[in-house]
Amino acid sequence: MDAKAGAYVGKILHGDYSPALKQRLRQAIAALGPLTELAPRVFPYIAAWRTDDPTIWYEFVGQRLATLFRCQPAELAATFKRCLIDRRSYKYIAVEAAVREEIITRQQLGGYWSGLRKEAASGMVEAVYKVATPEERIVWLKDWAVSEHFARDGIYLSCGTLTDVTKEMDHKELLEQIGYFDELTKLPKRGIMHRLLDVNIGQVERGHLSDFVFLMLDVDHFKTINDTHGHQAGDHVLAALAEALASMKRKEDEIGRYAGEEFYGISHGSLESGRRFAERLRRSVEESDFRWQGERIPVTVSIGVAAASELEELVPEKLVNVADRRLYAAKRRGRNQVVWQDA
Ligand code: GH3
Ligand code: MG
Ligand code: MG
Repeated sequence: MDAKAGAYVGKILHGDYSPALKQRLRQAIAALGPLTELAPRVFPYIAAWRTDDPTIWYEFVGQRLATLFRCQPAELAATFKRCLIDRRSYKYIAVEAAVREEIITRQQLGGYWSGLRKEAASGMVEAVYKVATPEERIVWLKDWAVSEHFARDGIYLSCGTLTDVTKEMDHKELLEQIGYFDELTKLPKRGIMHRLLDVNIGQVERGHLSDFVFLMLDVDHFKTINDTHGHQAGDHVLAALAEALASMKRKEDEIGRYAGEEFYGISHGSLESGRRFAERLRRSVEESDFRWQGERIPVTVSIGVAAASELEELVPEKLVNVADRRLYAAKRRGRNQVVWQDA
């Protein structure tokens, strides 16, 4: 084998295993090996574990991954475990069209490696590892792998890549640290709204964006939800509502928490497209199945929409005022509706 692609560090090829497993492993090494040379931020690997033993070992690793951890390829599994700070898994939830982040620290991971292997075997999870290298440098590695079970050998083989996503994750962590996101809803906070409005107004003024809308959304009779089901149920509804709203926005749009049970939205496009977006949000909330302790909690929202192009003087306060005025009109007219023009 090519020495640069990583000398063989495993035990399957030299052990008493089936030809099918050995053949698959050789194929995987031949396929992943060249990646070592290609992309500097991608580290191919092949891991294996026995169905009856919790210890993971590597059958193949690129030299660069071992170099990152200042160890020999054969020591990588143990070194990696020692350097791990936490592991975040991202589960794709088809029904909610959402991605859920779950953070597990090394302490919590302690006896949990078997769980990880089960997740890997189900092929549903994307994980990001936060590790501190021996020189105390924080590196984030995103794991993409496909696992195969060789029942006759009692072996799982997991072939994939770790990608260095340090730049991306540092950015995300910075946003968390500076309090960008609201604790309960995980949405951007009110303070961020002003910054977002400034950015969008700047884009309109420089002619990079033809128009955008600002919307204010308020949960109808939320006090009744608290009074009927309790404050905890109210919190749960707010978090679930936020998730539902966020899952409906496009990448260039933003939805944040304004205060309490009020949310704001910024969406690129005309008043008409903003009205349709707001209407989709409204309907989606109305149709959502919010539940607390098995009991369904009906939720509706009222929304006021204002477009940047409607204003003679495009300043954030005026845009917020117009949307707010229309929100209150929606409340007066009976709630569970979108208002986008003045009476
Ligand atoms: P309307 O349809 O007119 O908006 O009626 P409403 O009951 O939603 O309006 P109101 O502003 O009177 O009540 C909002 C309530 O939201 C009052 C407050 O206790 C509750 N609330 C605000 N923030 C939170 C929160 O973080 N969690 C919970 N559980 N309740 C909250
Ligand atoms: Mg309110
Ligand atoms: Mg309300």
